[in-house]
Parts: sequence; structure tokens; C-alpha cells
Amino acid sequence: MNVGDAVRAEVEARREAFVGLLARMVRQPSVSARGEGVREMAALELEVLAEHGWEAQAYDTPGQPVIVAHAGPKRGQAPQVLIYGHYDVQPPEPLALWHSPPFEPTVRDGRMFGRGAGDNKGQHLAHILGAHVLAKVAGGLPVGVTLVLEGEEESSSPHLDAFVAQHRDRLRADVAITSDGPMAPGDVPVVALGVRGILSFELSVRGARFDNHSGNKGNVVPDPTWRLLEVLSALRGPDGRVALPGFYDRVRPVGELEERALAALPFDPPAVAEMLGLDEAAVRAWDGVTYHRRLMLEPTFTINAIASGEIDQHKTIVPARARVRCDMRLVADQDPEEVEAALRAFLARRFPDVEYVSHGWMRPSRTPLDHPAAAAVARALSRAHGRPALVQPALGGSLPDAVWTRTLGVPSLIVPYANADERNHAPDENMRLDLFLSGVVATAEILRELGDALAGGRGSAQQALA
Ligand SMILES: [Zn+2]
Repeated sequence: MNVGDAVRAEVEARREAFVGLLARMVRQPSVSARGEGVREMAALELEVLAEHGWEAQAYDTPGQPVIVAHAGPKRGQAPQVLIYGHYDVQPPEPLALWHSPPFEPTVRDGRMFGRGAGDNKGQHLAHILGAHVLAKVAGGLPVGVTLVLEGEEESSSPHLDAFVAQHRDRLRADVAITSDGPMAPGDVPVVALGVRGILSFELSVRGARFDNHSGNKGNVVPDPTWRLLEVLSALRGPDGRVALPGFYDRVRPVGELEERALAALPFDPPAVAEMLGLDEAAVRAWDGVTYHRRLMLEPTFTINAIASGEIDQHKTIVPARARVRCDMRLVADQDPEEVEAALRAFLARRFPDVEYVSHGWMRPSRTPLDHPAAAAVARALSRAHGRPALVQPALGGSLPDAVWTRTLGVPSLIVPYANADERNHAPDENMRLDLFLSGVVATAEILRELGDALAGGRGSAQQALA
């Protein structure tokens, strides 16, 4: 039997044990937003890792511990792969909408329901088991694997970047892999080579110290809502372009490789219309390349919410205050700190009465599409899932991926293992067990392919990024 078949046979033979292990992990709450069960979960991870041949250690941070585990050959003996996951989960509320309690893992219709099943316990457990199974059936691993498990991802990873900077030497690798989020609809495997970053902020304008009668006091008290609308109009033109000076200066031009990758992605207007809640005619106005380019490689400026006065009541007032919450999704090589500074400077110059409150940011990331690890991982996924993997230049959403590409300086791939309808962050979160098990196989295949792709060319990964 060849190694691939032996991996599959081993996973099939141990199916119940693996599913039981996933249940054991989902049963342990680990809600980082309120610290519930997070330390207990870290202890359970250490146990599970030790049981499956990993050398693991928990490191304290100012927040929750980071677990670093290693399997296979050490640096200098073979290429090194870093795999990132997180053991914390979103709060389970609203509890009434769950069909079974969030921390009582339940299998229905071939899925395990429970908070954290897909995001992210099922995904990183597939990595833990994939390396374990491959080491067992092949008598060792072709690459060294360092697993980094964070306990604060759902609280926006406040300490991960500093941790990675501090342990740069221990973590150094030829490539980083993150498995989080869903596969494409129809169980299509995806390799993404970057993420959009994000800058979140709030603008507020104050008028009088309290609401005033719009008749008795109108025209003599300032109207903060009009002022806020002036600010917003000054920041974005009618063509949708962000008018902040310098905003587009660092946006990386879309190259020929990216164009080709975008053109190879499926674009099915009725399905896209259904997914977005739009009329098909609106979607048919785009071609596939435009659609994917706007989603992955162009920045956004979105008004998340706007508030002033009391919209559900007929109140003829001049409200005392108006607020707006926004986010900008940023693309390589925009720098959120720089955009934020430009925004603050713009406000100080033109709208000094507008208050800016930062709600945090995350950097964009991008790894070159022609990095050999991307093709290797795509081959491995296609084999594990029996269908060709999609290779995307980036994800529309944001992940702390620049921690790897920028702080650690390694190429990074995002390889989701969960079903498209995993309901992450929502009631009835679930992971399909067939995909959990094919994830175990996929990890074994990825490590084999990366062993071939990275051998000999060690260091070339870093060079490709330069
Ligand atoms: Zn999440």
C-alpha cells in the first residue's frame, strides 16, 4: 500500500476515536471574551498533543497562553512548516437558538454541533491528527511541523504579534499555514495567499450639550448630523473612491499572475446573487475578474452604522450628537497605521470638531502566487478532496496573517477545512465529520507535498518574498 492509501486506511480505522476526540475538545468551553474555560482548554490541548506524539509547551502572555508544539525533524534536518490555529471560541449566545447545548457536542446528519466545532477546534485537531497519522504510517515526517495555538483569536489576537516577535527564532519556518473559515460552497478546497486588513473606527460630532427643539432653537444650535454627513462626503467620492489623500498610494497593482488566478475562479451570477441577497441583474453587470478583484484585491470603505436622534419616534429635535462606525478593508501594501494617521491628519485639518476613536486594525498580507508551496498545497488538497483546489490571491476577510508574512517573514497560506455552512460565530455551529476526517488526510498530504517542494530549496521561501 502506498503512503496516501495507508493514511486513508488509518484515518478510516480510527474514525470513532478521532470523532470522540473532537467531542472531548468541543465539550470544554473556552470563551476568550470572558475568560471562561480558556486555561482548562489550554491544558486539554497539551494533553491531546502529548497523546499524539507532539512535544508541546504553553507560554504565558499578558493574556491567554500560546501553545507551541513540535513534531518531526528539527530545523537544519528538514524544511519547517508552521501551522497556526486557535483554541478559544466565540461566546455561544443567544442560547435559545441552539438545537442542542453549545458545549454538549452532538452529532446529527453527519455533523458535530457545538461551539468551536469548526472555528477552530475541528480544523486544528485535523492538523494535530494528520501529522500524527503520517508519522505513524510513514515512520516519520518529511518536514518539521511547529504548531502555534492561540487562546485569544476571537478577541482579535491582542498578544500574538508580540509573542511571535519575541519567539522569532523558535518559530522560524519555510512556510506558514492557517486553517480557519469555510471551504468554498460545494466542498471545494481553497488555498488563499493573503488577506485584506482592516481599520475600524468611529467618528462623532457634538452639537449642544443636550437635544434641542428644532423650531424654538433651530438655526441657532449646531446640527451635528449634517456635519457628520459633510465629513463622510469629503472622505468618499460619488464614484466610490476614497478621497483621503494618499489612500491608494501603496495599493499593489494587480499583476498578470493575479489576473490569471482571478479569471480561473468560478463566477456563477445566479449563485452569487443568491449568496449576496441581490437581484441577478446587478450581479450580471460584472464579469468574474471584476467581481473577484473587488472582493480580494481592492480596499473598501464601509459605513457599518450611523446614529443620531431617535429614528423610531417622531421627535422634532436637533440631536446633541451624531456618531458613525466605519471600517476600511485594506489590501497589500496599505499600512493601517499609516491610513489611520492620514485620516486623523485630514480631520484635524478640515474637521477639527470631529472626534476620532480607533477600534483597532489588522494588517493586510500577500504571498506571491507563484510560491512553490502554493502549488504543492493545492495538489495535496485536490488529492485529499478528490476535486481541484481553487487558488485565490487573497481572502476578502481579515485574519492575523501578517504576523507570519511580516513579523516572522515567511510566506503564508490559508487553507480552510470547515464546511461552507459551518455557522461559525452563530448558533448551531457545526463541522461536517467527513470534512473533519478529510482534513486529517489533507494535512498528511500537505506535509508530504511540502516535503518535496521545500526540500533543497530551503531559504528560497524567504527569497521569494523579498
Ligand atoms: Zn472565529
